[in-house]
Amino acid sequence: MSNSTEILICGAGIAGISAAYHLAVRHGICNITLVDERAPLSLTSDKSTECYRNWWPGPGDAMVGLMNRSIDILEELADENGNIFHLNRRGYLYLTADPEKIPAFEQEAQTPSGLGAGPLRVYRSRGKAAVYQASPPEGYRGIPAGADLFLDQAAIREHFPYLPDTVVGALHARRAGWFSAQQLGMYLLDQARAHGVKFVKARVTGVEQTQGAVSAVHLSDNTKVATQHFVNAAGPFVKEVGSMLGFDLPIHTELHLKVAFRDRLGVVPRHVPMLIWTDPQTLNWPSEERQFLAEDEETRWLLESMPAGAHTRPEGAGDSDIILLLWEYQTHVMKPVIPPPLDEMYPEIALRGMAAMLPRFSEYFERMPQPMLDGGYYTKTQENRPLIGALPVEGAYIIGALSGYGLMSACGAGDLLAAHITGGELPTYAPAFSLTRYDDPEYQKLLENWSDEGQL
Ligand SMILES: Cc1cc2nc3c(=O)[nH]c(=O)nc-3n(C[C@H](O)[C@H](O)[C@H](O)COP(=O)(O)OP(=O)(O)OC[C@H]3O[C@@H](n4cnc5c(N)ncnc54)[C@H](O)[C@@H]3O)c2cc1C
Repeated sequence: MSNSTEILICGAGIAGISAAYHLAVRHGICNITLVDERAPLSLTSDKSTECYRNWWPGPGDAMVGLMNRSIDILEELADENGNIFHLNRRGYLYLTADPEKIPAFEQEAQTPSGLGAGPLRVYRSRGKAAVYQASPPEGYRGIPAGADLFLDQAAIREHFPYLPDTVVGALHARRAGWFSAQQLGMYLLDQARAHGVKFVKARVTGVEQTQGAVSAVHLSDNTKVATQHFVNAAGPFVKEVGSMLGFDLPIHTELHLKVAFRDRLGVVPRHVPMLIWTDPQTLNWPSEERQFLAEDEETRWLLESMPAGAHTRPEGAGDSDIILLLWEYQTHVMKPVIPPPLDEMYPEIALRGMAAMLPRFSEYFERMPQPMLDGGYYTKTQENRPLIGALPVEGAYIIGALSGYGLMSACGAGDLLAAHITGGELPTYAPAFSLTRYDDPEYQKLLENWSDEGQL
């Protein structure tokens, strides 16, 4: 059996769906086929914390530019559909209890602001902080941009009374919050289908080239689909699908877990922003358990200093008492295995890690709530920047390596990919996400000192 399509997209995660939406709805291309061996949005895109922010570090303003564009589109879509995907703008609240870190904390806050993420308002006294406007729990319009930096403990206590007295610095990034990824994704997919996009449930097994250009795609149902445009949006499998075109794409995958609990004690107030602890910490184990952990080589590390980055947020509206907890205390680079292996210690370690930020979490130590644990893969390049654009075979494209920011960047990434495919005007950040950036010796030099900071 054989058929044809103008563009074939491999992968119906948020990346492939956003690409299909932009090409069909915003550019009017009606003959597009979206192919996935799984149900749409069911692999990585439904495992996320669903948070977004424009508050990104450098070098350069490409990430801030991409995120600003993506959030512009998210807001447009929310306006257009009555916000069916519950976009809020509660912000991200980064916290430290380390007075010695304050100069660096302040300096780091200047960077995204200088790159276009909005003004930085610094409060060194309670009086100065009186002008701070808190974010409402719902809604996304009429809320300040940029960030508010609190460097006075009395001001922090006044505006964030649920935090412990130990907090000496609080940075509230404002063009940030969360939304329902499933509802956004389904809205984009429904719109794309209404504009002619066809979904096919099958596995892409090969990509055929004729004289250096894409000419057909082979599917697991023995279909051969003639096409001149192939988009690799295979999420954690972009490398595998890339190899069908003869490339070894410079990406790797990391396992990331997340746990949800019912917060029956109300430790996390329901109206708060996303809360992020930016200090490394040592976990507070009871002495008996401490001894037990110390005896085993495999667990001894749990008594040592653990990395920064524990974060939590309330999930769900109305009388929901669900909270999400994430803490990447160990990095697991591995080939994607489905379903991802889950670490049974994760819920307890994440819960203990949160107690530095919200000490009442310790009330759960004796009797842990029932955890709901899941996870997926961050698909990353070395410098944690995405790959969006053309591949070196005519007609082949990629929208991938979206790491831990694929939901927040999806609309901007789909918009950028569509501009590449249709030959539209490219934004200034386009080269920063193209595969050809690695051909530039200056970029290679930059990579030598590039740290992966800024990713939760
Ligand atoms: C724990 C966790 C928390 C996260 N939190 C956030 C967050 O707060 N904010 C945020 O923005 N992002 C977050 N992310 C990241 C985000 O979830 C991902 O970046 C995003 O979902 C990637 O989307 P994707 O479409 O590239 O991949 P996927 O959703 O994995 O979709 C890829 C699709 O390709 C299909 N596929 C692969 N190979 C083939 C083939 N050969 N043939 C057919 N189909 C194929 C798969 O079946 C899959 O459906 C988080 C991720 C994790 C794991």
